[in-house]
Amino acid sequence: MHKIQMKTPLVEMDGDEMTRVIWQLVKDKLILPYVDLKTEYYDLGLENREKTLDQVTVDSAIATLRLGVAVKCATITPNAQRVSEYNLSKMWKSPNGTIRAILDGTVFRAPVLAKGITPLVPTWTQPIVVARHAYGDIYRDVEARAKKGDKAYLLIESEEGGQKINLFEFADSDGVVLEQYNTDNSISDFARSCFNFAISQKKDLWFSTKDTISKTYDHRFKDIFQEIYDIEFKAKFEEIGIEYFYTLIDDAVARIMRSKGGMIWALKNYDGDVLSDMVATVFGSLAMMTSVLVSPQGNYEYEAAHGTVTRHYYKHLKGEETSTNPVATIFAWTGAFRKRGELDSLPELIAFADKLEKAVMDTIENGEMTKDLIGIFYRDGVKVKALNTVEFFDAVSNRM
Ligand code: NAP
Ligand code: MG
Repeated sequence: MHKIQMKTPLVEMDGDEMTRVIWQLVKDKLILPYVDLKTEYYDLGLENREKTLDQVTVDSAIATLRLGVAVKCATITPNAQRVSEYNLSKMWKSPNGTIRAILDGTVFRAPVLAKGITPLVPTWTQPIVVARHAYGDIYRDVEARAKKGDKAYLLIESEEGGQKINLFEFADSDGVVLEQYNTDNSISDFARSCFNFAISQKKDLWFSTKDTISKTYDHRFKDIFQEIYDIEFKAKFEEIGIEYFYTLIDDAVARIMRSKGGMIWALKNYDGDVLSDMVATVFGSLAMMTSVLVSPQGNYEYEAAHGTVTRHYYKHLKGEETSTNPVATIFAWTGAFRKRGELDSLPELIAFADKLEKAVMDTIENGEMTKDLIGIFYRDGVKVKALNTVEFFDAVSNRM
């Protein structure tokens, strides 16, 4: 059979547990029969991270800077329990954190919508893509406890003399203090990633912060977005008929709840962390949430938003049946193929990505799905059948 040819390899980042099982099934059942697959393979499974002292994670991120498009399997972020389970020499950092630090990008999370799965917010008929700034703020803060009688300051040293600003005097009580930062460079990169992504998706971009209260910090975000928009992107937005819209975060929350969806919603680090989980839940299932990291230089790393589905993996190891939903992992691959196809001018590869996604959606919309979707699916006249992990792959493969 004729197989679709690729030019540039994808950076393939393999991972852990149930998603590693699914990874192999995606390749064996849905890709290799149709595509002459070219990848540069990096095994980010925890055992190999340990063996390479985590160098493999760094190498895979550097390869992404070189090749431009990566697809990543979910990976374990070690905690104390994992250190003993895998006999680790060190509590290795989150691979996603390491990759993000090297690519320095923005994470866009988008739900996969299926007919029959009604969002918990009935007006949301189009996906909402959450763009989370992945740098700084409380994720890089310093925190301390203060004792009654302490005085806290914000101190900035500089050659011109610096600033020492009174923060608070703990006259009556012990307390807590936190300092955080961000940089104009990172905020600018965040803004450009969002504007570029909005153009590539032809969707409106919303951005919201709390600039009325945070008059210097959040206001800086607002100003940087506006300046970059006016100088670099306004003309293009107007040409393709999309809008950039800034509003206060509480106003944005109220408007989004009443909207039809369909926008990209840019959020600061913490806001994006919290609200992306809310948006994912409203649209149905974590297993239907895709995620792509876009670097300011235009490198792309596609993945599922969920983790390694540990509970299912332990069942799998015991030989028990699992019903793990592979949709987000499949869409990570199709997203990567589509992007590779665009960059290398390979219409056949793009068409393959479209067909595979359609086969997945047709399977679900005609009533064949994994257990996580059963409770939230209803379509008039469609009989629902719960499939185990492998049966779901076979159902999609039959449609292909
Ligand atoms: P998780 O793997 O996302 O799973 C949480 C629960 O969500 C599962 O137990 C399952 O619920 C449900 N679920 C998630 N994905 C599913 C799927 N594809 N199909 C069916 N159900 C699905 O999160 P976790 O259990 O908190 O974390 C497990 C490991 O993943 C951890 O070691 C963590 O470090 C890692 N992790 C990695 C990433 C990443 O690589 N991007 C992200 C998050 C977590 P039921 O058990 O009720 O069926
Ligand atoms: Mg979160």
